[in-house]
Amino acid sequence: MEPQTKRWKGSVCDSDSWVAYPVLSDEQSQDVELIKAFAAPIVNKKETSRLLRELSTLYPLNGLQHIKRVRAVREKGSPHPLEVLVCLVSDAPDTKVINIDSLLPSDGVRRDGLGEPFVVKVPARPPLTRPQFELASKHWPTSFHEDKQVTVALRGELFSPPQKARMHMYMTSALTAAQAGKELGMEAVGAVVVDPATERIVAVGHDCRGDHPLHHAAMVCIDLVAQSQGGGRYSFDRYPACGFTSPTSDPFQSAPGSEASPQPYICTGYDLYVTREPCVMCAMALVHSRIGRVFYGTASADGAVGTRYKIHSQKDLNHHFEVYKGVLGKQCEDLNGLGHHIKRERVQQSR
Ligand SMILES: [Zn+2]
Repeated sequence: MEPQTKRWKGSVCDSDSWVAYPVLSDEQSQDVELIKAFAAPIVNKKETSRLLRELSTLYPLNGLQHIKRVRAVREKGSPHPLEVLVCLVSDAPDTKVINIDSLLPSDGVRRDGLGEPFVVKVPARPPLTRPQFELASKHWPTSFHEDKQVTVALRGELFSPPQKARMHMYMTSALTAAQAGKELGMEAVGAVVVDPATERIVAVGHDCRGDHPLHHAAMVCIDLVAQSQGGGRYSFDRYPACGFTSPTSDPFQSAPGSEASPQPYICTGYDLYVTREPCVMCAMALVHSRIGRVFYGTASADGAVGTRYKIHSQKDLNHHFEVYKGVLGKQCEDLNGLGHHIKRERVQQSR
């Protein structure tokens, strides 16, 4: 059966109305953890290299290679231009009185050129994003190997206007599918799988839980992609808005493609656009099917790619994918709100 392909073109594109932000791993999004250390002013600049050499031998900053040992003093008119990190508070000798003599044993570091120590906080981990770097640097100078793509993505500027226009169109297709599912009494969730290399929509699906408890929109889409490659497990023939295109034939069809060309493994390199953040089951299915990127409109309380878990960045899984949220966020949220509203009405009616 032919779906309503005309509606796939989307409404008049207003891709300026939303911004897609990346859903980063916990490590990338967490606050900057700080640890206490003793620093001391370098009162004689000429002693700097010797002090650095001797301090690094006496108190190596193991696992803290991101921390710069010396910093310039920011305050204008300071009597000393530089400060050096002597040691971590946890590495200092256990003495009641902390002064430069108690920190430096007489045979380790010559104290010439060093003033009295004071406590500072230094970042415990290397910063992974520019916001983390900027926060960390407020405490102590830190090196940073910037991932420019992440920086641009965090500003919401990763996608160009033509890319956003296409993303808008894909999510509009997912919204249209969600609406079609809702009209059949399903949860209002829609999804679209796209091959970004060819800009071809590979599959469109909506929630089909009326039939089967596992047929969430993303699961339906993955099965439809498998069908486009001659596999798949289920039939969604009775849902006109669910279907796939086979790579060898242009028109949208709902029967397995007979002349399938060599295919990547299910969703390898493909993008999923889904109106609502996928749950754990769907997120794991996306891992197994090797999805490339996931774009979702609105978060879900049980969401597994940002809200409750971040399965896409789970270190011990053997596949990871990028996740962006906020594509047509308002429209996707309205869809869910409407869905819940309808549900509530049904509950009330049945009382
Ligand atoms: Zn799900």
